[in-house]
Amino acid sequence: MIDWKNRYADNIKDYQGYPLGKTLKYLSDPEIISLAGGLPSPEIFQTSELRAASEKILLNDVDKIMQYSAIPGEQSLFEAVIDFLKRDNIHLEKQNILITTSGQHGLDLAGRAFLDKGDIVLVDRPTFAGALVAFNMEKATFVGVDIEPDGTHVDGIETKIKQLQKNNKTPKFIYVVPDFQNPTGITMSLKKRKQLLKLSYAYDIPIVEDSPYRDLRYYGKDLPSLFSLDQELYNGGGNVIGLYTFSKIFCPGLRVGFNIGHPEVIKKMANIKEGNILNTPKYNQDLCTAYLTQMDFNAHLDKCRAYYKDKLAIFLETMEKYFPKESGVTWTTSEGGLFLWVSVPDHIDTAQLFFEAIKHKVAFVPGEQFYGENPEKNHMRINFSFASKEQLKEAVKRLSACIKSID
Ligand code: PMP
Repeated sequence: MIDWKNRYADNIKDYQGYPLGKTLKYLSDPEIISLAGGLPSPEIFQTSELRAASEKILLNDVDKIMQYSAIPGEQSLFEAVIDFLKRDNIHLEKQNILITTSGQHGLDLAGRAFLDKGDIVLVDRPTFAGALVAFNMEKATFVGVDIEPDGTHVDGIETKIKQLQKNNKTPKFIYVVPDFQNPTGITMSLKKRKQLLKLSYAYDIPIVEDSPYRDLRYYGKDLPSLFSLDQELYNGGGNVIGLYTFSKIFCPGLRVGFNIGHPEVIKKMANIKEGNILNTPKYNQDLCTAYLTQMDFNAHLDKCRAYYKDKLAIFLETMEKYFPKESGVTWTTSEGGLFLWVSVPDHIDTAQLFFEAIKHKVAFVPGEQFYGENPEKNHMRINFSFASKEQLKEAVKRLSACIKSID
C-alpha cells in the first residue's frame, strides 16, 4: 500500500479542507435552523422563467450545448456582461472579460495567476474564508488589518506595506470585498475607495475586488466600484481585477461568473482555465445570458432587494429584543448583502459555542474561519437570506438561550 500522506504536493500536504465545509457537516438535523451557509433563498429563484429558457435552449441548441465550447466564454454572454457592467459605469470590451465557473473559480484563477509560495496578500480582518482557501492553495501568506465600520483600514494597510518594504517584501495584491463584505456586511466608503486606489498606484500593488453582492443594496446610496473609479480617475485604469458571480443574484447552482481586468491578465487567466476546467458549460452560460437579456433582471433584483431587506429588518429587530446592551453581544448593521457579524463577550469561543448552539438547534459559522492570521475567537457570521422570517426570529431566540446557558 502506497504511503499516500508522503506523496502529496507541498502546497496541499497540510491542507485539511475548507473549514466552512466542516461546519456545514453538522447541520443534517432538519430541526436545526441554519444561519451558517451563504445560501440565497430559493424563493427568489426564477423558477418558471428558468424552465422556459431551459426548454428553449434544449430545443434549439442541444447539439451545441453538449459539445465542447470556447474556453474564454460564449460570445452572447460576453455581450450581455458588457451591457450589464455599463449600467454600473464600467466600460469594457470582450478582451477584458473571462467567463468563470463561478466566483470561487474566479478566486482560484487570481491565486494561480499571481501567487507563489509565501507571497503576501493583504486582506481585511476578517475576510471571505473562500478567498483564504483559494489563495492558500498557492501557500500564500496573509497580512491583515482589522476592518473598520466604513471598510478596509487603508492607513493600516499602508503601514503594513511600509513594514514589509523594510524587509524587501512587496505584497502581490490587496484582496477586498467592498460591498456588503462577507462575513461582516460592511461596505467601504467612497473616501476609502479613492484612498485605496491611490495606495495601489503609489505602491504599484494591484487590487482584487470581489463583488458578489454589489446589486443587493437595501439601504443607502450606491457607491462606485473600485473598478469603475479606477477607469474614471486613472485614465482608463488597469490596477483593479474584478471578480463577479451570478450565484447571489441569479442562482448558485449554475456556477457561472466572470473576471474582468486588463487584457494581459485576462489572457493569462484564460490560459490557466485551459489547464484547469476548459470551458464553462455552455448550457449554464446560455441560461445566464437569458437572465440578463430576456428575464427582466432589474425587476428580479428589485424583488430580491425587497425580500432580503425585510428579512434583515426582522433579524435586527429580534436581535435588539433578545440581546439587550447588558448581554455584551454586538453586531454590525449592513446596508445590503446576506451577512452580519455578531460579536460575543471576549471569554466566549464561538468555535465551542457552535456545538452548544447545535444542541439548541441553531447554527452559525464560527468567526475564526475568516482570518488569514491570528484569528479572533469571539465572533460569528450570521446569514439572514436563507431561513424563513419565522425561522429567523426563532433562531435569534435559540441563540440567546444558548449564550445565556453557558454564561
Ligand atoms: N466571493 C465572496 C465574497 C463570496 O461571498 C462568495 C460566495 N459565498 C464567493 C466569492 C464565491 O461565489 P460562488 O458561489 O459563485 O463560487
